[in-house]
Amino acid sequence: MYVLKNTCPFCGHETDHTTDPGDSIAFPVPGDPSICWKCAGVSVFDDKLDLRKPTPAEKADFDKDKDVQEALACLRTVKEGA
Ligand SMILES: [Zn+2]
Repeated sequence: MYVLKNTCPFCGHETDHTTDPGDSIAFPVPGDPSICWKCAGVSVFDDKLDLRKPTPAEKADFDKDKDVQEALACLRTVKEGA
């Protein structure tokens, strides 16, 4: 977990940390995808590690990215089970 305050560009949800199922530190780098826990929107860390909406090309990449799709599936499972 990495402490980082941000705002989801899709729903405005305020985030206060990042997590990564494959990396316990989860320090993001610019261009990394971020999935909103509240709305499941996939955004991108910009050069200042603020979140922005992806470009159409980035969104197409995320739609094909196995890790992003697995994380979205995991999020849906957790939320439906809660
Ligand atoms: Zn959101």
